[in-house]
Amino acid sequence: MNKKTIRDIDVKGKKCLVRCDFNVPMKDGVITDENRINGALPTIKYLMEHGAKVILCSHMGKPHNIFTPGFGLTKKEKKAIEALPEAERAEAKAAALEKAKKDIKKFTLKPVADRLNELLGGKVTFATDIVGEDAKAKVAALKDGECVLLENLRFDAGEEGRDEKFCKALSEFCDIYVNDAFGTAHRSHASTAAIVEYGFVKTAVCGFLIEKELSVMADALEHPVHPFVAVLGGAKVADKLKVIDNLLEKCDSLIIGGGMSYTFLKAQGYGIGTSLVDEEKIGYCGDMLKKAEKLGKKIYLPVDAIVTKEFPNPIDAVIDIESVDIDSIPDNMMAVDIGEKTRKLYADVIASAKTVIWNGPMGVFENPILAEGTKAIAKIMAESKATTIIGGGDSAAAVAQLGYADKMTHISTGGGASLELFEGKVLPGIACLNDK
Ligand code: AMP
Repeated sequence: MNKKTIRDIDVKGKKCLVRCDFNVPMKDGVITDENRINGALPTIKYLMEHGAKVILCSHMGKPHNIFTPGFGLTKKEKKAIEALPEAERAEAKAAALEKAKKDIKKFTLKPVADRLNELLGGKVTFATDIVGEDAKAKVAALKDGECVLLENLRFDAGEEGRDEKFCKALSEFCDIYVNDAFGTAHRSHASTAAIVEYGFVKTAVCGFLIEKELSVMADALEHPVHPFVAVLGGAKVADKLKVIDNLLEKCDSLIIGGGMSYTFLKAQGYGIGTSLVDEEKIGYCGDMLKKAEKLGKKIYLPVDAIVTKEFPNPIDAVIDIESVDIDSIPDNMMAVDIGEKTRKLYADVIASAKTVIWNGPMGVFENPILAEGTKAIAKIMAESKATTIIGGGDSAAAVAQLGYADKMTHISTGGGASLELFEGKVLPGIACLNDK
């Protein structure tokens, strides 16, 4: 990796603004999964132990921009209010604004600050604003080796809007900018890229989490130990067009499962019943199959499927299923998981690989009856001695649920960001950092 990290600079006595990804799941103000907090700890601890003044910032969810005057309502809410008779608008606006104010409770980072304070020996304070009076006072009071967490960046419209004034105000807190938020590195927001791109900070480096994510994933993509197998699943082929295209260049075999495989199968002329299909992308799938042939690569598609009459509703409903060969999907049924022969085929391909990357479930894995295909991939990857990389999102959740998390070489903390890496894109939150 050619980007500087916190190890490459002197941080003693310096104000370090660290962009983290503390977008943790919460229920009633209680953090239900601490993975992202734990992921950020090595960087924070290093900076504190090396005498930096640490200013942490992050977004949490998608709140109203309640710190930005006039931006209290979302576009959707504004539109709904405009559609009302004029006499009713003022009251509706007041009610919506009142509701928006409640976001402070739902999306505050205070619980994260409290947890960090417990984990970091009582040295973490919390600012109730981002670039306001409280943040300024708390930053000014920081001693070397202490830490403050600013309030949710997305309470200010300037964060997602890349507002220059907002970037400038944030940069007042920073001699050194550290990006350690891999999960948002594909976003070009104020705190993830613009603050550096506008020239407000000169020293911009990455933390250990980004360093680890990049070194494992970029290395696997650029210098894989062959055979290199990529496993792609999930609902829509349209979401993964560039991923398929790019991975086909790099891997030896591409395994396709999940809803997206049926557009490929239709391109090959199979009847797919009522399975998920993207009619507009049949041509693209045909092109990819030809491209693979030309490159001497293999695209593996399901040879059998688990089918059902109707998509489960609710998603975990108990449903009747049948197993059929891929050329025998009944017209009135849809494929919702890979079948047993496919699981065996895919397992054999994965077992012979030295590098495996995986993104996207093989079926409607939210329903336990339809999770067997996804489980089979997780199991064979867990048992493999290959470098095994899980590209975040649903596959990461499935692996964790099955208890295989510590059996994989790497589980990415960023689903969207890792998919963009798989596409071969340069992530803005990384591109803006100082080169070595
Ligand atoms: P993605 O966000 O593209 O990774 O897609 C994940 C979603 O794909 C999950 O919610 C799965 O339920 C869904 N999915 C996987 N296989 C199928 C399938 N055969 N038919 C419909 N949905 C599927």
